Amino acid sequence: MTTDSWVNETLYDAWGQRFLVRRELARVRSPFQDIMIFESATHGRVMLLDGVVQITERDEFVYQEMLTHVPLLAHGEARRVLIIGAGDGGVLRRVLMHGDVERAVMVEIDGEVIRLCREHLPAIGGDAWNDPRAEVIVGDGIDYVRLGGPASFDVIIVDSTDPIGVGEVLFTDEFYASAARLLSAGGLIVNQCGVPFMQADELRQTSARRARHFPYVGAYVAAVPTYVGGFMTLGFAAKQPGLDAIPRATIEARARAGGILGRTRYWTPALHEAAFWLPPYIAEQLPST
Ligand code: SAM
Repeated sequence: MTTDSWVNETLYDAWGQRFLVRRELARVRSPFQDIMIFESATHGRVMLLDGVVQITERDEFVYQEMLTHVPLLAHGEARRVLIIGAGDGGVLRRVLMHGDVERAVMVEIDGEVIRLCREHLPAIGGDAWNDPRAEVIVGDGIDYVRLGGPASFDVIIVDSTDPIGVGEVLFTDEFYASAARLLSAGGLIVNQCGVPFMQADELRQTSARRARHFPYVGAYVAAVPTYVGGFMTLGFAAKQPGLDAIPRATIEARARAGGILGRTRYWTPALHEAAFWLPPYIAEQLPST
């Protein structure tokens, strides 16, 4: 169906962005959420879940690169990576760019998101779905981490929706306690923590919760155009100190060795280092160290 209608994002009651829709590609009510994928006039194809922008073809690289390359290069020896959510496949594809990753498990609650993204947003996941190192599980992330074995992963990436509805369990004490158990001694977890200019509570409350289960808690930022309101924050929690301050030269050497350097459009070693230098209005939401 070709239309020239507008879609308003419903994340905030009194403010938001809208897209001029060229063509609606899918509209499905799954058991978990309302899924809409459309061709926009400005951002390529766009996916909304329950009316909230999740991904656009035009700016997905910003968020996916920062959510993936930062923790893997900060860790330095990540072999086993757990991805929660991320049904579009973009994080999985970036994780598998790292040649020394041996296993990437992705747990997405909604099989319809995977199906529809593979059909209508194929470039985002690319051929990650067929990589022998990848295991894609349709299930609730909280169930997976609850049952997972100790020290079974080096990095956990939580690319979930916001802490409402099905995503809420991924921001709880139980989830972080399970994640801490699942992570090896040098392990770390990152997760999307919203846009603090509009969602400061999400960063403050979840950081305080993570601090109850991890000794080193922080955040870093990315400027994602369609996550409106300024910087998007990515929560960062580690078992070892210093992973949020790895020298640029070390990050660059690791990226070169891992085959990442020169294959990104937002992440760079310098930007990796700079992303942890937070403006006061964001830093003040974090637990005092
Ligand atoms: N990049 C987007 C953002 O930052 O808003 C998120 C992308 S991804 C589409 C979010 C995914 O998290 C959705 O596909 C949703 O189904 C999934 N999700 C939400 N709650 C989940 C849970 N409890 N377990 C696993 N996946 C979950």
